[in-house]
Amino acid sequence: MVAVDGVLCDIARTLLQEQARVTCLVPPGANPHDLLLRGTDRQALSAAQLVLINGHNLTPAMNRVRVSAPVVPIGERAISRQKALDPHVWHDPALVGVMVQETAKAVQPLLGNAQTGALQRRRQAMQAVLTRLGAWTAQQLQTVPAAHKVLVSEHRAFSTFASRYGIRELPVIDTFATGGTLRPSSLAAISEAIRKSGTKAIFAEVLPPSKTLRRISSVSGVAIAKRPLYADGQAPGQSLVETATANVCTFVSAQGGRCDQQAAAALQQQWAAIR
Ligand SMILES: [Zn+2]
Repeated sequence: MVAVDGVLCDIARTLLQEQARVTCLVPPGANPHDLLLRGTDRQALSAAQLVLINGHNLTPAMNRVRVSAPVVPIGERAISRQKALDPHVWHDPALVGVMVQETAKAVQPLLGNAQTGALQRRRQAMQAVLTRLGAWTAQQLQTVPAAHKVLVSEHRAFSTFASRYGIRELPVIDTFATGGTLRPSSLAAISEAIRKSGTKAIFAEVLPPSKTLRRISSVSGVAIAKRPLYADGQAPGQSLVETATANVCTFVSAQGGRCDQQAAAALQQQWAAIR
C-alpha cells in the first residue's frame, strides 16, 4: 500500500508493522503542495492495493494521477472539507486519533481475520498515546501567558491546532502575500499586524529562514524563533509524536512558557514501543 502525504506514513507503518508493506511518497521535510510525482512514485501508485492520502487538497499532484486501487482521503474522513480551514489537520492530536481509526478501517479488508486482533491492539495503543499527547499539549500551552497565545507562521497550517487549544493564528504569507511576492504596503501591514499580535517570535518552517521572512522580522522588530515549526508533515527522521512534541516545545519556549521535555520523551518512547 502507499501512504502519500502528511503524517500517514507513520500512522500506516505503526499500525501495520510487518503485516503489510507501506511505501511512503512525500518524504519528511518535502513540500507536498508543489510535489511532482516521479516515475517511481507512479509505479508504486499503480501497483498498490490501497492508497492513503491526507486529502483536503494537500497534494494537488494526486488530482492528476489515475490509480486503480481505492484512494482513501484519511484527513477528510477525520474532519470535513467544510470544517477544515487548511489541509494540515494532524496538528490536533484528537484528529490524529480519528485518522488512526479511519486508517485501521481502510486497511482491515486487506488483512486476514487472523491479523485483525493485532491491528486492533495497535490501534488502541496508538489511540492511548495520542490521548496523552493531547493532554500533554494542553498542559504545556497553559504555561504560555495569554498575551502570547498567538502563532505567527508562514503559510496557514495550524488552524486545527489553534482552534483546539484556543490560540490565535496569524499566517503572514497567506494573509498578506500572494504567490510569495511581497509589496512594500504588504510588508508594512504584516509588520504592524505582527507587532499588534503580542507574539514574541515569528515561526519559520525551514531554517535558514527565507529572505521574505527575514525582511518581515527586521521591519517588525520581532525575532524569528531559533527552531522551525514543522508544518507540512513529519520532521526528517522523526515520528509524528516526536514532530508534534517538538513543535509544541518550540512554540511554548519561544512564547515565554515552559516545556516538559521529560514527559515528551516518555510519549515518544511509548509511540516507538508499539509493536
Ligand atoms: Zn502546507
